[in-house]
Amino acid sequence: MRCVVGRFERQERIRPPILGPNEKYEWNVDGVMKDGALAASNACEEELNPDVNVNTCTAHMGVLWIDRHKSLLRDPLNETIIREDFESFKNIQFAEASDRTFDLMLQKWTIVLNENALATAFSVAWRGVSCTRAAVNKLAVVPGGLPSDNNGEEGKKVGQKRWQGWQKKAMVGYIPDVADYLQAVSRSDKEFGGKMNKAVNCCKFYSEVYKLAKQPISSLTVSFNYEAYQSETSSRARSASASTPKFPSGTFIITATRVIKNLHEKHKIRLLPEFIQAISGASTTRAGPRATGSSKSANTWLKQFIDMACQPVTFLLGESMDFDSAIDWMTSFYIFTPITADAYLEHLYVRLCSTGLSIIPLQDIKALGTSGLMSCSCKRWLHYAWCHHSAADAFRKNILVAFPRNMDPKVSRKHQVGRPVKAKPGGARTLPDEEPRLKKRRK
Ligand SMILES: [Zn+2]
Repeated sequence: MRCVVGRFERQERIRPPILGPNEKYEWNVDGVMKDGALAASNACEEELNPDVNVNTCTAHMGVLWIDRHKSLLRDPLNETIIREDFESFKNIQFAEASDRTFDLMLQKWTIVLNENALATAFSVAWRGVSCTRAAVNKLAVVPGGLPSDNNGEEGKKVGQKRWQGWQKKAMVGYIPDVADYLQAVSRSDKEFGGKMNKAVNCCKFYSEVYKLAKQPISSLTVSFNYEAYQSETSSRARSASASTPKFPSGTFIITATRVIKNLHEKHKIRLLPEFIQAISGASTTRAGPRATGSSKSANTWLKQFIDMACQPVTFLLGESMDFDSAIDWMTSFYIFTPITADAYLEHLYVRLCSTGLSIIPLQDIKALGTSGLMSCSCKRWLHYAWCHHSAADAFRKNILVAFPRNMDPKVSRKHQVGRPVKAKPGGARTLPDEEPRLKKRRK
């Protein structure tokens, strides 16, 4: 298929519109999500400017491709590892690190798993192809937040045909109609979708948020103000990168739960100041995330992560860096960035209201500036534009004040399903602060 926006017949190239003397036509493309077909890549290369953000569907690149190439596996047991590796690769938090992480992943498949045939075929098919969620999210106002990383929208072709009234229109009429349709169904970062995804709007999610918000030692409390750290390191003139802050004012580095658990279990660390010291002090650099070689062993975990965040490719080129170490580092800390763009806040606010969460007025959130709602670089945020870190942080800041009534983790749901055994007629199950709604008995 030569065309980027397909018409209903395959193999048909969309020709430029024929314009009348007074007609003007301009089509600006910011980003494209395409399937795995080589023709689609060729079309994008030929028809679009090089600065357009072109990404490939990860379902075609990962799940479907591996399904079709299982016969290349030397050991069938390696299939699970390969699928997990691809899932980790897809969720890396730095878009700039995509190519280097791709190389490290293939290195692991070749050297550690000894799956040369599969690694070679994968490399031939996908090297240089952009697909990670961080790369897809490059167009977002703040890091993260474009919840579409596959071309599932293609499944809406029927809707598109219906929108067109089942008519095949000429180019000039067709493109504006498609643009209207895409606007209507778009899940883009600027417009968001209308509702919060169920994965971040369910009992399990709110239970996680509730625990995280009230824990004295958690990802949110073992966190570091990037600006303060930067000015401190600049004053000590420790590194050249310290003088060029990469993240906006109000950004925090939060520690992954896995690292906190690891410190607690292996090193018996119990108090918050000790956790802070262990991560930001040089004395315990060998514990937790994998050490990155003797030259960096004197650096703190925090410094090593910030070095990676500022210059991911250089960091990943380190001698002892393998794929597992790279993923380990990239999932040990997350970048927590304030959401200050009005358009972004407004759409996030609408989505939050649609869940039933009680939230303070929008103007109050805007007035908070860099101390308000935060975006995260974790896997969940990259996928759903909302995560347990951001939600728990909003509860701690009293931006969110109550959970949805039917999913409140503070209310025991153990005995709330079905009618109580000894219920009186009309005594329907009610929440604690709700008056029973008594029905009138029929006489
Ligand atoms: Zn997060």
